[in-house]
Formats: sequence, structure tokens, C-alpha cells
Amino acid sequence: MQPKIPGTIQIQGMQWTIMIDNVQCALEGAGAFMSSRDCTITLADTLPLDRQRKSFLHELVHATCDEILVEDLELREVQVYALSTALFQVLNDNPEARGFIFGET
Ligand SMILES: [Zn+2]
Repeated sequence: MQPKIPGTIQIQGMQWTIMIDNVQCALEGAGAFMSSRDCTITLADTLPLDRQRKSFLHELVHATCDEILVEDLELREVQVYALSTALFQVLNDNPEARGFIFGET
């Protein structure tokens, strides 16, 4: 069964809305994008599931950095890409470590 995309997510105490909009993502030329102003992350659900998951984590890194509101934390796109890609791989490929980090059994 394919995991369900959440409708909302809490980021640093703020509620963000997760939307599916394939047309808007195509117009943006991305599998996903975020808006700090609107507290939204928009995903395309036409991509392969792993691509959706990676894109979602990528936008979460952007959103988290924006919510932390530390000026010096403004990451360049390549840094967000590297961090989110590396985190995805480690968390995806190491369920035991992921369970330990998040207190799952
Ligand atoms: Zn990005």
C-alpha cells in the first residue's frame, strides 16, 4: 500500500498545508515547491513515489530553515539538495536507526 501524503505538517510550531497540484508543479518546473508566505508545500503526485518522498523532504528542509528564522541559516539550493538527499538515503535505508531516532518500535 502506498503511504498517504499528509494534509498538514507541524514545522517549528507552525501548521503547514500539503497540497497536490500537478499543474502548478509543472508550471514551476519542479516536483514540489513551498511558500513560506502561505505555509504551503505543493507536491506533484504524478512522479514515482520515491521522487515524491525526496521532493517532500527537500521542501521540508526549505520550510524548516525558513521557520527557524536565523538569517545566517539561509542555505543555498545546492546545500538544501545535498542535505535532503543525504538525509533521505540514511533514513530510508536504515529503519533500525530511524526507529531509534523517532522512538518507533
Ligand atoms: Zn529547493
